[in-house]
Amino acid sequence: MHRRHFLAAGAALALAGCSGGTERRTADRTTSPAPSSSAEPTPTPSPAPEPPPPTPGTPAEVLARSTVPVLCYHQLREHTADDSPYARTMITPPAVFSAQLQALRDGGHTPVSGTALVDHLQFGTALPDRAVLLTFDDGSATHATVGLPTLRQFGFPATFFPMTVVLDKPNWLSSDQLREMAAAGMTIGAHSWDHQRVDQLTGDQWTEQLDQPRQTLTEILGQPVDLLAYPHGMWDQEALPHVAAAGYRAAFQLSDTQDPAQPLLTIRRVMPPPTWDGATLLAHLESDF
Ligand SMILES: [Zn+2]
Repeated sequence: MHRRHFLAAGAALALAGCSGGTERRTADRTTSPAPSSSAEPTPTPSPAPEPPPPTPGTPAEVLARSTVPVLCYHQLREHTADDSPYARTMITPPAVFSAQLQALRDGGHTPVSGTALVDHLQFGTALPDRAVLLTFDDGSATHATVGLPTLRQFGFPATFFPMTVVLDKPNWLSSDQLREMAAAGMTIGAHSWDHQRVDQLTGDQWTEQLDQPRQTLTEILGQPVDLLAYPHGMWDQEALPHVAAAGYRAAFQLSDTQDPAQPLLTIRRVMPPPTWDGATLLAHLESDF
């Protein structure tokens, strides 16, 4: 049974997520030979051998590493009279957001990029003690106007998953804001074109909802986009091969059990409601992961 409570939110409350930057690996080269006054030809330094590619972990190893908490936020703004009680659980007032980040800091947690987390899960690369991943779904403009400056204040990286249908529209992220966020060290991932559930896609919808958003974001950012957050957090077994075929290396759901055969494509997250104070948030990091 996958999460269905998102259905009530509707298009006005679309949700999204994010990812991390890739590191370019540079081969060490031997130093150039000392200058010589002789007429001998200068030998060409031979490049050092490429390091072996990292070995992906088995699904069981990935599952065993999947203890890093992942938080999922949506809009960062004050509540209004028009916000339903359910919507309010996904609307985090700026002061509450700051307080939750402060609680993470005070609790000794270290936010990491989406790429760093996926590298850890997939290859076993090291993470700081008490690592945590912050993700933001849907593409609200408040991710740039509230989220980015607050994250910068704390020096925290995060991952953002915007729907591509909303980009450059009023109250949603612009392409320029996405580039600014990426330049600030934030990871950008995909969250479908218009928030269709992947367990209901057929035919050309796979390309429209998975391939094209990845391509669009890659073109906007000028760098690969390879993380996905499932709209509504929902997925099913039939969707996983389509997600992999579209080029995603990892995908984030909400609170279903991770798929034992495809744990990288079913990474769990929790949504911290604004009613969680710092102590409650820290308690959930311990109990939910
Ligand atoms: Zn969403």
